[in-house]
Amino acid sequence: MEIAKLGEFGLIDRLTKDIEIKNASTVKGIGDDCAVLSYPDKQVLVTTDMLMEGVHFDLTYIDLKHLGYKSAMVNISDIFAMNGTPRQLTVSLAISKRFSVEDIEEFYSGLRLACEKWNVDVVGGDTTSSYTGMAISITCIGEAAKEDIVYRNGAKDTDLVCVSGDLGAAYMGLQLLEREKSVYYQQVEEARKKNDKRALEELSHFQPDFSGKEYLLQRQLQTEARGDIIQKLREAGIRPTAMMDISDGLSSELMHICKQSGVGCRIYEKNIPIDYQTAVMAEEMNMNVTTCAMNGGEDYELLFTVPIGDHEKIQQIDGIKLIGHITDAKFGQILVTRDNQEFALKAQGWNPLS
Ligand SMILES: [Mg+2]
Repeated sequence: MEIAKLGEFGLIDRLTKDIEIKNASTVKGIGDDCAVLSYPDKQVLVTTDMLMEGVHFDLTYIDLKHLGYKSAMVNISDIFAMNGTPRQLTVSLAISKRFSVEDIEEFYSGLRLACEKWNVDVVGGDTTSSYTGMAISITCIGEAAKEDIVYRNGAKDTDLVCVSGDLGAAYMGLQLLEREKSVYYQQVEEARKKNDKRALEELSHFQPDFSGKEYLLQRQLQTEARGDIIQKLREAGIRPTAMMDISDGLSSELMHICKQSGVGCRIYEKNIPIDYQTAVMAEEMNMNVTTCAMNGGEDYELLFTVPIGDHEKIQQIDGIKLIGHITDAKFGQILVTRDNQEFALKAQGWNPLS
């Protein structure tokens, strides 16, 4: 269905009619000039993120449902990265004529799935038209008690450096998708040159073979915010001294924490958690797997530091890996390789402005 047929208000009605409010802090959701939120005795966390088609996502690889899910999750992840609880979310979309009502419903279904997973209320947004492609702007609001908030600037000498999950898989997933896309376009190009109609017809049903690489795709397309890790840390009575989520790559995030905390760090290559599929794919593509794990973005794992006294408690938590420790600033930010060489860390994270 063409969006013009419903009009903006008709579309919004259709997308939001069955939204149920779950949080007591949501006094009023969609349906007035503003949403109304109430946070007595809490500090309010606000994060916002903008995603542009062609810059941040490519609809040849990702379907709209996964895109909706991922767009919500990356914002929810930032609230967890402050040790907060996500509560509300607003979503604004600019869409061109090539999208139908059903497309936008798909996007919303993914977005709402992510919100349901973490009990987040969709409380507002905006829909407008765009001449070219799609733009998504999401704002997530969360809460935390003042004493629970974890900033990037609290890491201290001798603290332990930890990461959740494993790294580099989302980046390898992107490499895989890009490789398949270029193979596909090469084949189409060749068939066109030869005017091979049968080959072109076959290519219209092209299905890339991703077997054995499912985890990489999942990590690229189905981003998960690590609220489960936040929960486990709370249950263990551990409060990180500094924390952030890994969106641009471990190396650049470590630099942020060190710079803002005024400390150095020593990270051990052998301790960096890497999945088997990530290692296999890196080898296939002639890439150094540690470089992929250090600089590949979009893992959305948590990077945090804890006091050395929490060593035993941290080791008992599944899914958290100790990768090094914090040092005095004068020692710099160092990566110790498997063969005991030392390198200064560089922030080579993904830079959307480059
Ligand atoms: Mg972040």
